[in-house]
Amino acid sequence: MKLFPLFADLHGRAVLLVGGGAVAQRKAQALLEAGADLWVGAPELTPQLRQWADAGRLRHLPGEFEPHWLQGKWLVIAATDRREVNAQVAQAGNARAQLVNVVDDPELSSFQVPSIVDRSPLIVAISSSGAAPVLARRLRERIESLFDHALGPLAELAARYRARIRAARPQMGPRRAFYDWLLDGPVAALLRQGRPQAAQAALEAALQAPVPPRPGSVCLVGAGPGDPGLLTLRALRALNEADIILYDRLVGDAVLSLARRDAEQVFVGKRAGEDHHATQARIHALMREHAQAGRRVVRLKGGDAFIFGRGGEELQYLRAHGVPYEVVPGVTAALACAAYGAVPLTHRDHAQSVQLITAHGKEENDTLDWQALGRGTHTLAFYMGVSQLQRLAERLIAHGRAPDTPCALVENGTRPDQRALYAPLSDIAAQARRHGYAPPSLLIVGEVAGLGPELSWYGQVLHEAQARLAGPAAPQGGRTGREPPPPAP
Ligand code: SAH
Repeated sequence: MKLFPLFADLHGRAVLLVGGGAVAQRKAQALLEAGADLWVGAPELTPQLRQWADAGRLRHLPGEFEPHWLQGKWLVIAATDRREVNAQVAQAGNARAQLVNVVDDPELSSFQVPSIVDRSPLIVAISSSGAAPVLARRLRERIESLFDHALGPLAELAARYRARIRAARPQMGPRRAFYDWLLDGPVAALLRQGRPQAAQAALEAALQAPVPPRPGSVCLVGAGPGDPGLLTLRALRALNEADIILYDRLVGDAVLSLARRDAEQVFVGKRAGEDHHATQARIHALMREHAQAGRRVVRLKGGDAFIFGRGGEELQYLRAHGVPYEVVPGVTAALACAAYGAVPLTHRDHAQSVQLITAHGKEENDTLDWQALGRGTHTLAFYMGVSQLQRLAERLIAHGRAPDTPCALVENGTRPDQRALYAPLSDIAAQARRHGYAPPSLLIVGEVAGLGPELSWYGQVLHEAQARLAGPAAPQGGRTGREPPPPAP
């Protein structure tokens, strides 16, 4: 081991910081947060350091470094931009057997300050022993993303209840089980949910009980449209903590591969011959069964669970059966396809509102207000519409949308095989058919879609201007031939 890690208690202890610039200011901030009795030696101070000095939070030693500054200091940090001064500080420190850190200079330093992840009172410190600070920083980012901010309050709560936990669970085995429950169960969840009092009450109740209640729960997680980069940090954490993941067809492998290795992954999408009702009943039963067996269940859905995702029904079921739950939003297909299809859903010049619509549903139970959809230039985003493009376009035109209203059809949005088709409303169905567009595809209708071809930045693109250039090479030679607008019904 090249370096011996240690955590120093600096509260009320004198620390010398040599340097008065931006780097010194950063160090001063950290040292003040750690409660150090801070002395800053430098000819000049940054305005912030000056303000701290004036407010009595640190003491200023004016002028060039003098070895007697080290007297009575527990720790020394050199942060000037002159190496010879830093070397003098290091030398003086070494002569007096004091620990000296020279910022970004492991050679001159007798101790180094690690990268940290601060969930006080919990602190993770990382060092590459000076070999590769970039690596340490990367690792820090990873860890930072893995643990949410409820960890600090949780550690604090555990500290406050330490004696009582020990008294209630005098034996090692049950005590360890209790701490596991504390970390994995409802107390941590309630802290995440911004309910510290309820968290404390749950802890109190568990202390009274002979064995802690099982920690099972369901986290309803939006997996986004496919690109795993579009997962939220919270979704990633849920995937990392899951015992079992119940996922749908729209959830891609790239997302699933980020889950904890030993989490069980169960596909719960529609089975052949099963109707929606039966599928949903099966999913409900699975969630309940696993949560009640004490597992952390992640119910993973494409996009966002509350946008055409039956998330509401699932929560109602869980509530009715007393299963605790959390919800993590995801990037819904309309937002994702708009971004990756380069269609700003609203635009000061073109659209003041946007509507998310499911085109799914039989004619007879279609409750959409077509009159309103046909009026104006607001943006419409149709989910599940690829098989009904013809009908949608006809209806919109029949209710007043101009046949040349720009449209964008985005297939496999955000995935490596994304295709985007830009065409007028009157022609979008025919072109989609010709090029074999299939689900999952999202249709955006409105003036804003006209910006797509120009702003496009991702994946394969098909649009008229390009098609004309492509000429005879276009499949079936067909991209130039616009079909007449479909007749109004
Ligand atoms: N809850 C999901 C929507 C489920 S409905 C969400 O918030 O995105 C399924 C429909 O969503 C598909 O038929 C398609 O219209 C759309 N969709 C989902 N993922 C998509 C993707 N990657 N690209 C294009 N459309 C997508």
